[in-house]
Amino acid sequence: MTAGDGLGPGAPQAGSYDGSWRPGDQILWRYCLNGEVRDARPVTVVADTPELTVAWLAPDTPIRRPVLADGSAIRSAPLSQRFLRGWSTTQTTWHGPGILKLLPWGAAHSVWVVWRPDGTLRGWYVNLEARQGRWWGGIDTTDHVLDLWVGADRRVEWKDEDEFAAAQQAGRFTAAEAQRIRSEGERVSDIAARWDSPFRDGWEDFQPDPAWPLPPLPDHWASPPATP
Ligand code: MG
Repeated sequence: MTAGDGLGPGAPQAGSYDGSWRPGDQILWRYCLNGEVRDARPVTVVADTPELTVAWLAPDTPIRRPVLADGSAIRSAPLSQRFLRGWSTTQTTWHGPGILKLLPWGAAHSVWVVWRPDGTLRGWYVNLEARQGRWWGGIDTTDHVLDLWVGADRRVEWKDEDEFAAAQQAGRFTAAEAQRIRSEGERVSDIAARWDSPFRDGWEDFQPDPAWPLPPLPDHWASPPATP
């Protein structure tokens, strides 16, 4: 790696990756589809084990987020068109409080701890997504559109059912895939009902290390996805 390539002091490099990350490493958490990167979020590694990776997305982090091909907001397209139109990405920053991303390896979801601006817990966002791949630069997955919200009161609700139906109509998922995605959501809903890991593990008390620098968006955000 050469100077000026956009890598932060804690960023792993291609040649030095040994299959795991250390706390403070800066990696990318990317959402990809059909070989394209749709969303790239630089995060700081909190913990990394074969079972669970935990990463912090800090406020004001520079990110790439999805937009329609003409640059307008995804949700400005009517539902019937939203998953048929071409998508691209735009550069922006992560607005609002940071979130803590929990990745239980081998599961088709991640769990994001979400706080209010005053630091109190809002709840847990369960993002249903493909089983993740890891590479030296970070974690790659594909969003499954359907989500769950687990409130601070532990109530569970489905999110984005309308988009999930529109995505199926647009051919994003087969009926069998859609059934597997919903089953994964039901499985996580059962985990929440039992208040099993990761909900019971105290992650809502997490505080980022104030010494961690804000991760830059490295140039390799656009490198080819590690997973389809
Ligand atoms: Mg989602």
